[in-house]
Parts: sequence; structure tokens; C-alpha cells
Amino acid sequence: MFVVESDYMEVEPSINESSPSLSSSRSCDHWYVRYGVCIACKSTVNKRQGRAFNYLIQGLQLSHEAAAFSKRFTTQYHIVNEKKLHLVLDLDYTLLDSIRASLLSETDKYLLEEASSRDDLWRVDTGFLTKLRPFVHEFLKEANKMFTMYVYTMGNRVYAKSVLKAIDPKRIYFGDRVITRDESPYAKTLDLVLAEERGVVIVDDTRDVWTHHQSNLVEINEYHYFKDLNGPEEPISSYTAEKTDESSSDGELAKVLKILKEVHCGFFRVKEELESQDVRFLLQEIDFKLLTKDA
Ligand SMILES: [Mg+2]
Ligand SMILES: [Zn+2]
Repeated sequence: MFVVESDYMEVEPSINESSPSLSSSRSCDHWYVRYGVCIACKSTVNKRQGRAFNYLIQGLQLSHEAAAFSKRFTTQYHIVNEKKLHLVLDLDYTLLDSIRASLLSETDKYLLEEASSRDDLWRVDTGFLTKLRPFVHEFLKEANKMFTMYVYTMGNRVYAKSVLKAIDPKRIYFGDRVITRDESPYAKTLDLVLAEERGVVIVDDTRDVWTHHQSNLVEINEYHYFKDLNGPEEPISSYTAEKTDESSSDGELAKVLKILKEVHCGFFRVKEELESQDVRFLLQEIDFKLLTKDA
């Protein structure tokens, strides 16, 4: 057959030069490019033909076809082999609250001392004091059973790395799946997440940054632990001012976890429908208020 034979006809290139189908079978689609050079054929490739995935491998660029293929493959693989979907988590005001130590209010400065003896309070190397949201460890542990997880933050990589030492010191939850302002400075996009959009749930306190993916989003109420002197003129009430904290068992992360369980359960309910299942429709159907209503 013609298509099969074409693979072997490369030994006679002079005969095939005129046939478009034959010549295309020999040309390279440049799927994986590193520092502008195709990994397969070694030719120089135009930057606009793909998207950078520096967070995975420095200098790596995937063509649109390669990204689409990887997304399909990854989603399929995790669904079939691990019964897992994908989850994208914001850091600031979602999983934790950070403040530059120099911006701590006078009444909050005692927290710097407490950081060394408390495991929910971290003085990270970047000069920030970070307070983990109550329930964050339980949340990550449970979510990890249902989802392959990403961090996606508007903070820079140095900051993300130092904060991750507090919530994922052994890198079991996120691995290299950490996207920061360094790779994604303007808006947040699922284009950078190697998974099909139908299988990705986002948890973020800021809806606006997800311009094109709001139907994947579970919006979580902001967590403000510190009184931020640099914040808005009308200060948002903070927990330190009241010397209290969000409830662990009944707080926002526990509520969101219920939603995630519901989505995961819905997605895998009917085995025959896995190919067409979509978290965006499931999220639409879930009655958030009913699930998260205070008992
Ligand atoms: Mg945030
Ligand atoms: Zn190539």
C-alpha cells in the first residue's frame, strides 16, 4: 500500500521529491524543541510555532500538536491507571497567607519569634513570613488521592520554591508541576498545564486571572491571616488582629475538598462515559451552596 511503502522509499529520495505526501512523511514536525533547536531533526525552529514549558525543562518548547498530544495522553493515562484527574492550586490567599516580615504590624511582630516553634508558621528564606491555612496538610493529602496536582502562582519561582518547602517538603504532591510568574507573567492559563481541560479543576481565590478557564474554577474565599499594612485603605479583617484563625474542620479548604470529591465521584461514576466526561459540566451541576452550607 502507498502509505506503508512511503516509509521505505526514503532510500530513493530522488524519485519521491515531486510527491507531496511522500516528502511530508520525511519532514519533521518539530514537536519537541530545546533552546530553539528541534530535538529530533536538529533544525532551528521559529518560537511562534509552539509554547515554552520551562517549568518542566529549562529551554523546552512544545509545538501545538505536541502539547495537544501530551495533554490527551496524560489525562487518559491518569484516568485509566490511577483514577486521577488534575488539580491546579493557587498559593497566596488560597493555601496560605504570606507577608514580608518588614511589613508586619507592630502588634503582629511577636509572630516572628513564634515561627520557630509553630509548624503552621514559616519564616521562609525570601524574607517572608508564611502562615499555612488551617487544614492545608489534610487537604493536600486527600486531594492527592484523586488528582495529579499543580501549583500555579503569580509569585515568582524563588518565592514558590521556598513556600513549597513548608507544604510539600518531599515534593510528593507537586514535583516539577509548579508554574510561576516567571513562566506566566500576565494571566493564568491552562495551556501550560499538560492535561485536557475537561479533566482539570482549578482552586483559586482570584477569578479574574483565569480569563479563559472560569468554568474549570472553584473559587475559594480569601484567607487573610496577617494584617497587611500595605493592603487596601479599608483593611481586610485579619485573623491576627482577632487572635483567632479559620476553622480547620469547617473552614474553606474543607468545604472545597467536599466539592472536589463530588466532582471526582461524578467523573468516574459511569465507566462507559469516561471519554466524554467533563469537569466543567459537573461543576455547573454541583450545588455549591448546599455542599458548603454551614451545618
Ligand atoms: Mg491567590
Ligand atoms: Zn524537527
